[in-house]
Amino acid sequence: MKILVTGGAGFIGSNVSDALVGEGHNVVIVDNLSTGKEENINPGAQFYNVDITDEEALEDVFRSFEPEVVFHIAAQIDVRKSVEDPAFDAEVNVVGSVNVFRMSVQYGVRRVVLSSTGGALYGEVGQLPVSEGASVEPVSPYGVSKYCAENYLNYFKRLYGLERVILRYGNVYGPRQDPLGEAGVVAIFTRKILDGESPTIFGDGTQTRDYIYVEDVVKANVLALEGKEGIYNIGTGKETSVNELVEIFSKVLGREIKPEYTSPRIGEVTRISLNGDMAKRELGFTPKYSLPEGIKKTIDWYRGK
Ligand code: NAD
Repeated sequence: MKILVTGGAGFIGSNVSDALVGEGHNVVIVDNLSTGKEENINPGAQFYNVDITDEEALEDVFRSFEPEVVFHIAAQIDVRKSVEDPAFDAEVNVVGSVNVFRMSVQYGVRRVVLSSTGGALYGEVGQLPVSEGASVEPVSPYGVSKYCAENYLNYFKRLYGLERVILRYGNVYGPRQDPLGEAGVVAIFTRKILDGESPTIFGDGTQTRDYIYVEDVVKANVLALEGKEGIYNIGTGKETSVNELVEIFSKVLGREIKPEYTSPRIGEVTRISLNGDMAKRELGFTPKYSLPEGIKKTIDWYRGK
């Protein structure tokens, strides 16, 4: 199948691209390398250094490749940056996404699989783990822009029959996540701990996240290629606090790790976990990796680098 992957040089996009190439698909990657890396790009895929906000350049790719399916994974993913510069966040995550969806309709794409967020979308939720039908009250511009992209995709489905699968991820971690970025606590902790430094916790460390290993997220994307259309939480349903995360690192490494504490950051929810029942029922997706297993694999990968 001819598949276009936006953001295919990034953490999740490159892992998804590897799986698609591995399954024998004809893959084209569009990425502007803003956070993605050339070394992540699968050699079996064709790469275009194109910005999704550059309509003309993006259209050239759609016109020449005529993809059947698009995995739209490219985004501005930094929550803090979105708070500082909401207009830039919207430019990439809303305008860029609209370009991708509009061209998908124009060039006869059958299905779009959108990487969205469960962690930043729902806001502060009373009942956890949260289901897809819960109210959406993001506490960051990033959450707003990702939800806006979802709504545009729903609109293109409604009006033009574009098939769509929306995957709302928990906190994804694993090989290739940028440890020097602002996002990705597992990657940041792994680098600091392996460098012999103390990890920094923003706030008192009781804030919880639903951590999901990248291989599980890849599996969800592969299932979304042919699976039932819908909007799915992709998480484990488990809440883990940042303090517990440090304990897991201590156990996996067999030594005590002492974090440093600093003031909390705005734009971040205090507690979240995602109910994955719908993805299990409709997509046949269940996550395979426990957090200690995933952290061990992640540490091994960074050590081998
Ligand atoms: P990432 O930064 O590694 O990947 C994003 C990719 O998009 C990068 O390769 C970057 O260069 C590219 N990109 C950014 N702006 C672009 C533009 N204007 N034009 C073309 N390419 C552009 O981040 P990631 O963690 O792999 O995130 C991938 C997707 O998953 C994003 O849509 C993100 O919102 C979503 N997501 C991630 C997480 C997580 O925990 N990592 C959680 C929920 C949702």
